[in-house]
Amino acid sequence: MTAVIPTDNPVDFTGPYRLSINGELREATTTFDVPNPATGAVIAQAPDGGADELNAAVAAAKAAVASWSGLSWEQRSAYLTRYADALDSHRDELATLLTTEQGKPRHTMAASEVDAAIFWVREVAQRTVPVEVIEDDDDHRVEVHHVPLGVVGAITPWNFPVLLGLWKVAPALITGNTMVLKPSPYTPLCSLRFGEIAARVLPPGVLNVVSGGNEIGQLLCEHPDVAKISFTGSTATGKKVMASGAGNLKRITLELGGNDAAIVLADADWKSLIPKLFDAAFGNSGQWCIAIKRLYVHSSIHSQFVDEFVKYCATKTVGDGMDPQTDLGPIQNTMQYEKLRSMFADIEANGYRVPLGGQIDVDRPGNFVPITIVDNPPEDSRIVREEPFGPVLPILSFDTEDEVVARANDTEFGLGGSVWGGREQAARIAGRLETGTVWVNEIHIHGIDVPFGGHKCSGLGVENGAEGLTGFTNTKTLMFHK
Ligand code: NAD
Repeated sequence: MTAVIPTDNPVDFTGPYRLSINGELREATTTFDVPNPATGAVIAQAPDGGADELNAAVAAAKAAVASWSGLSWEQRSAYLTRYADALDSHRDELATLLTTEQGKPRHTMAASEVDAAIFWVREVAQRTVPVEVIEDDDDHRVEVHHVPLGVVGAITPWNFPVLLGLWKVAPALITGNTMVLKPSPYTPLCSLRFGEIAARVLPPGVLNVVSGGNEIGQLLCEHPDVAKISFTGSTATGKKVMASGAGNLKRITLELGGNDAAIVLADADWKSLIPKLFDAAFGNSGQWCIAIKRLYVHSSIHSQFVDEFVKYCATKTVGDGMDPQTDLGPIQNTMQYEKLRSMFADIEANGYRVPLGGQIDVDRPGNFVPITIVDNPPEDSRIVREEPFGPVLPILSFDTEDEVVARANDTEFGLGGSVWGGREQAARIAGRLETGTVWVNEIHIHGIDVPFGGHKCSGLGVENGAEGLTGFTNTKTLMFHK
C-alpha cells in the first residue's frame, strides 16, 4: 500500500480521487475509469481498492471505536455539525460532480439530493437515543441503554449515491459507531469526496471510504471486525450480503428493490395528478427504488388518463443533466442500459401497445432511453413483474378494489405504494397494501423521524426514525438492586 497524501489542502473536485483511511488520503495500486453517462467520456480515475485497503480501513475504524464512542452525544453532534458545514461549503461542486458521474439533472435533482443529504447530516446530529427507565421503585431499577455496535460497513448503490451514503453515515456516527463506506463502483466520486472532507473535520478512522469492485463489498460483509452492514442495493445482492454476514452474526439492514404500485381510483381528480405521477414514476429516469413502477388506473377513466398522461410526458426532454432544459438524464451505466434494451425488446416482441417511446436510439452517444408508456400489458409480462429501473411505465386498468389490491400485492417486493382518490376508500386500500410505506394522495415524502424500509424481499429493518437510529446500536439492559 500506497502513498499517503496530506489532507490540509482544500478539496479539489477536479481530482485526483483518493481513498480515505484513518484520516489519510491514499492511492490504490490501480484505478478504474468513471465515465459520464451522458457522453461516455471518462471523467476520472477512481482508486481500485482491494483487500489490503479494505482491511486497513476496517482496522482504522476499529481502532477509532473506543475514543469516538467515548465522546458524549454533544461532542459527536458538534463533529457532525462541522461535517455538515464542510459538506455545505462544497455543495455546488458536489451537485456538479453528482450529475457528471450519475447523470441526473444538475439544477433540479442533483442540487436537491445534495441539499437533502446535508440537511440530513445536520438534523441527525441533533438526535439522541435516550436511556429508557422501565422500572424504578424502592427495591429495583431497570434501565435500557442503546450502545454502539463498533464498526459499521456501509454499501451504497448508484442511483442516489449522495443521499443514501449520508443516510448511513450520520446515524451510524451519532450513535457512536465508526464506519467504512464502500460506494458503488459506478458512482464512487461523491463518496470519495465525503471521505476527503471527513479527513479534514472528523477524528482519524471515524469515517473511512474505500472504492473498488463488488468483491470488496463482499469482504466487508465477511469481515470479522465489522459489527453491522447497512446495505442499499438490489434484492439479489441483499441476499448475498445476508449470507456473507452470517460468520459473526452481523446486524444487517437491507434497503432493497421495489415494484411500487400507484392506484388511481375512479373518483380521483386525475388530471391534476398527472405532473406528480410523472415525477414519481420518471424522476431520476425511473432509477429509483420507490419510483412508481406499476400505475393502476380505474377502468372508467383509464383510456382518457393514458391519452392525457402521454401528452404530458411528450412535453419532457431527455438529455444531458448539465443542460438546464433537461428533465430526465441518461441511464447511469451501460449494464442497466442493456437491461432496458432487453426489456424494450420483450415489449416489442410481445406486441404490447406503446403509445409513447419504445425505441432506444443506440446510435445516440450516452445511455439515453426515451420516456416510454406501455398500455395495459398483461399482469404476467416482464414489464409488470420486474423492476425495470428506467423511464418506462406500464399503465394498467382495473375494475374492483379487491382485484387491484390482489394485483398490487402479487409480487415478491414490498417497498412502497400510493393510493389516489377519495379518502375513505384510499385509506382502506392503503391498509391492505403489503409494503413498508404507503402514501395517500401524496408521494415520496420522507422525514428524519419517519421510518423507511421494505416488507418481503424489499428489505430488512428500517432507516430513519427512532427505529433507524437504534438499528445502529445494541440494546443493553442494566438492572440495579437498591
Ligand atoms: P447492486 O445490488 O448491484 O449494488 C449495490 C452495492 O452492492 C454496490 O456498492 C455493489 O458494489 C455492492 N455489491 C455487489 N455485490 C456485492 C456482494 N456480493 N457483497 C457485498 N456488496 C456487493 O445494486 P445497484 O444496481 O447499485 O442499485 C440498484 C438497486 O438498488 C435497485 O434494485 C434499487 O431498487 C435498489 N435500491 C433500493 C433502495 C431502498 O432504499 N430500498 C434505494 C436505492 C436503490
